Parts: sequence; C-alpha cells; structure tokens
Amino acid sequence: MIPAAFDYVRPATLDEAVQALASAGEDAKVLAGGQSLLPLLRLRLAAPTVLVDLGGIADLRGVRDDGDALRIGAMTTHATVLADPLVAEHAPLLAKATATVADRQVRHLGTFGGSLAHADPAGDLPAVALALDATMEIAGPDGRRSVPAAEFFVDFLTSAVGPGEVLTAVRVPKYPGFTAHYEKFNRTAQSWALVGVAALARRDGGTIAEARVALTNMGPTPVRAAGVEAALAGASADEAGVAAAAARAGEGTSPTADLSASVEYRAHLVRVLTERAVLGALGLVGAGRGAHAA
Ligand SMILES: Cc1cc2nc3c(=O)[nH]c(=O)nc-3n(C[C@H](O)[C@H](O)[C@H](O)COP(=O)(O)OP(=O)(O)OC[C@H]3O[C@@H](n4cnc5c(N)ncnc54)[C@H](O)[C@@H]3O)c2cc1C
Repeated sequence: MIPAAFDYVRPATLDEAVQALASAGEDAKVLAGGQSLLPLLRLRLAAPTVLVDLGGIADLRGVRDDGDALRIGAMTTHATVLADPLVAEHAPLLAKATATVADRQVRHLGTFGGSLAHADPAGDLPAVALALDATMEIAGPDGRRSVPAAEFFVDFLTSAVGPGEVLTAVRVPKYPGFTAHYEKFNRTAQSWALVGVAALARRDGGTIAEARVALTNMGPTPVRAAGVEAALAGASADEAGVAAAAARAGEGTSPTADLSASVEYRAHLVRVLTERAVLGALGLVGAGRGAHAA
C-alpha cells in the first residue's frame, strides 16, 4: 500500500531536528533506518504528518570509547555495530545479538537506536541493553536526559522517548572479565525471535561469580531474569548448576501466544534457551545447538 501523505524534513544537526519536531507537533515522527517505520506507514498503521529524517546528522553515528563504557550513536547501523572492533572487544554480547538481527539488507539500514526506540518485544537488542545496563541519552525541547535501560522499555512498542524527543546515543558499559552469549530461537533463518536470551557471566574457578541474564519476547518489554541471576551466583560452572538455575527462567515473565508459539511453548523455550545461553557464555559444551532442537 502507499503511505498517507506526509511532509519530509532532513535536518543537518540535532538542534534542527528537535526544532523541526517541536514545530511539527504531536503527529511528527522521527525516521531512522525506516526498517520498522516504513512498513507501518505502508500498512497505514501509522500516519504521521511530518517525518524528521535523522540520516543527515553525522554526530548521531559511530562508536566511541568512553572510558568504562562505549558510546554508540543512535543512528549507527546494525552493520556498523557488527563490524566495529571496539564493540567486538568490549561488548561481545551486542555483537553476537546484532549478528542475529534480520538479514544483511536490514542490518545495512536499520539502526541500533531505532531498534531500542521502537521497543518491539521481539527485537533482539532491547534485552541486550537491559542485560548490559545500558543508558539511553535523549534530547528534546526541555534539554537532555539519561534513562537507564531498566526504565527505558515502558510497554509494548513504547519506550521512554517522548513526543518531540530524539534518542541520541547509548552508553554501553564494558564488563571486563565477563564472557557472553545470545541465544535466539526463530522458526526460519533471519526472522524474529520467538524467544531470545542474552547472557553474561563471570567465572571464579569452578563457580559462577556473577551472571546477568535478560529475555526477549517473554512479555511486552524485555525482562531481566532476576531469579536465574540469583541462582547462578555461586553455582558450579557446569551443566547441572546452569540447568538448575535456568529452571527459574519463567519467573516474572508474561509471555503471550501468537501464530508461532503458545504461552506454554514460550515457557518451555525460555528455560531451554537460558540454559544454552549461559552455557554458551561460560564457553561450555551444550550451547548453540541447532535452533530447531528446542
Ligand atoms: C524483514 C525484517 C526483519 C527484521 N528482523 C529483525 C530481527 O530479527 N531482530 C530485530 O531485533 N529486529 C529486526 N528487524 C527490525 C530492525 O532491527 C530495525 O532496524 C529496527 O527495528 C528499527 O530500526 P530503524 O533504524 O529501521 O528505525 P525506524 O524504522 O526508522 O524507526 C522505528 C521507530 O523508532 C523511532 N525512532 C527511530 N530512531 C529514533 C531515534 N533516534 N529517536 C527517537 N525515535 C526513533 C521511529 O520514530 C519509529 O517509531 C527486522 C526488520 C525487517 C524489515
């Protein structure tokens, strides 16, 4: 279908973008890579009167070393994130999850910030941001503010980015001593996650000193698997220890049913995938088996 008519603005600076959004009013929308927004416009599920394209603002792109964190511009594409050596070194969980996002074409246009602002529960990167305790930097008519990932994902397709605001960058802390894995189950290659699990773990000899685990598509927002994390702390770094902790993966989740999976199937998947993700993070055998073995 052809989208409803809209005006198009392509500012060269962030200040111009914020001004353009302010003068366009509530029915304006930010355009990033367009990979989620354009389908919505074509289906007429969204009909903004003005699109403010961030593609001309060079300051919103790129990955920078910021001491104990990386600062990733919101308009940095998935492909750039994937190829970036700083991300590979300091945020391997983000690199692993980004590699599972869609296909090359989508990764070439879609952006890290767009994925987070869109807040799709099936998107892979919100759970990664939650597991990593990333901080979102937002600019708007009232100035700038920072929002931790734990408060950023408000509801289904709803983030803390308000009308007239722009997500400008994401601060991703480094986790020295941790290893990471993202485990995703989808029906066909390159499609969305039925369930996904982002895991980081730090070993101390034969035990797990600390783990951070977050879940994709187990509710309207990504969910931190607090029960699993508590059970993993001090557990033995082996299959039995991880399996016992993964049994708590469903705690605090509220999965829904759709054409691809029932609630019960998602509850099963999250346990299996949590076990695989944590074993994968620990570098133990058993992780990353064929997705369709679940
Ligand atoms: C075929 C296909 C398969 C896909 N598969 C996956 C997948 O497996 N996993 C996955 O995670 N994703 C998947 N995606 C989505 C992809 O990751 C998109 O890139 C992402 O969801 C949106 O990013 P975007 O830059 O394209 O944002 P856009 O589509 O331009 O925008 C999406 C929404 O976010 C808002 N927005 C975007 N950027 C900002 C900003 N900086 N500040 C404020 N608001 C902003 C827009 O106004 C809009 O409401 C898929 C997409 C397609 C088309």
